[in-house]
Amino acid sequence: MTPRPQSQALAHLHVLISGASIAGPALALQLARRGAHVTVVEKAPALRPGGFAVDFRGHVHRTVLQDMGIWDEVHARQTHMGVQTVVDADGTPRVDLPAAMMSGDVEIARGSLAAIMYERTKDLDNVRYVFADSVATLHETPTGVDVTFEKNAPRTFDLVVGADGLHSRTRALAFGDESRYLTYLGYYVAGFDVPNHLGLDRTARLHSDPGRMVGIGNADGDPARAGASLVFSCAERLDVDRRDLAQQQKILTERFRGMGWETGHVLEALARLTSPDELYFDAIAQIHVDRLSVGRVVLVGDAGYGATMGGMGTGAAIVAAYVLAGELAAAGGDHRTAFAAYEAEFRDFAKGCQKIAGNAGPFLAPPTARGIRQRDLMYRVLAARPLAGFFQRLTQRAATDIVLRDYP
Ligand SMILES: Cc1cc2nc3c(=O)[nH]c(=O)nc-3n(C[C@H](O)[C@H](O)[C@H](O)COP(=O)(O)OP(=O)(O)OC[C@H]3O[C@@H](n4cnc5c(N)ncnc54)[C@H](O)[C@@H]3O)c2cc1C
Repeated sequence: MTPRPQSQALAHLHVLISGASIAGPALALQLARRGAHVTVVEKAPALRPGGFAVDFRGHVHRTVLQDMGIWDEVHARQTHMGVQTVVDADGTPRVDLPAAMMSGDVEIARGSLAAIMYERTKDLDNVRYVFADSVATLHETPTGVDVTFEKNAPRTFDLVVGADGLHSRTRALAFGDESRYLTYLGYYVAGFDVPNHLGLDRTARLHSDPGRMVGIGNADGDPARAGASLVFSCAERLDVDRRDLAQQQKILTERFRGMGWETGHVLEALARLTSPDELYFDAIAQIHVDRLSVGRVVLVGDAGYGATMGGMGTGAAIVAAYVLAGELAAAGGDHRTAFAAYEAEFRDFAKGCQKIAGNAGPFLAPPTARGIRQRDLMYRVLAARPLAGFFQRLTQRAATDIVLRDYP
């Protein structure tokens, strides 16, 4: 499928999108090519780099990427991640995980994907990005949504889209407090850059002890830089201020003290971070809302059905953008019809992706030594040749469990 030509089907619509990570720019791209006037507001001062590598699998993701016209660029900037190895506390390999099992059909750094979509949209006449600001209040009227911002002047939009992630401000304002929708799954995850002192080249090592996992991976062949990931179990949700780097460094250092393998080096790199923007730290959690829209406000991406880690959140975000923009075009911009159709088309697909993600924490950091041995045994069996294809098909099932309509 080739990129579709620009149309004016939605030229009468003024849409505000909150959040410029994956879902926001993906929807901006899909709406802008149909003529809508799109404003994207992002609370960070610039497009945020970093984050884990994310992968796409199966024909649905491929169709959407091709439809967006970014398939070639995603391929050009893919990671080429190879085998990942589970190691003992002394670094001895325990089991290898083949690339096909871990990295999907094509894998790309989250920041690179966000940059591709941002670059495609930022200079369009009908798209405007506003950084370092956030929606403050939303007030729906019969003809639109009156929006006030923390910094910029108030404006009225026809529609408002929450693409502002797991802790969505839009959702809190339009749907209610986060505590009603967020299910904490008993684990935390952190990610940040570390020196590539192991000399990894498009490969990763990970080590678990009961309730904890440390991984170091190099996805892009950079000889100097690698990415560390830490996962730990935690019975209670922590009271974390995401802007307080020192607090997060303290929590992680305490949790990972005494762990073997390369953990000491990873914690030293953590201590050298100077800005909270260099650290991704969040609960492993899922979002469950009753409906994806309320009046003229609608949710896409993690804000609506998020699952930290393993839930193909990035693939689901681009599929959601495709369906929502397509349904709006099909309904001539009528949000009632379009939002109901988006819900009907997309809801079960999102649920399927969330289901897969539910076990990410216990899988990466099993709570007992026995659990770790069982997981490694399972890895070994699944990585064996005859079963590798079966495993791939299994993970692809959720990613392809939707019939995409061919929208106007
Ligand atoms: C820097 C970064 C690193 C990440 N790293 C990982 C990772 O290592 N592992 C993992 O599982 N997932 C990670 N994610 C989440 C992952 O990107 C999503 O699961 C998935 O891609 C769906 O994307 P999304 O656009 O719906 O949500 P997100 O990627 O979470 O993006 C939400 C965006 O909204 C912005 N935002 C938040 N609040 C407001 C507000 N009030 N006003 C305006 N903007 C706001 C955020 O700054 C962010 O840019 C990361 C996200 C970011 C932004």
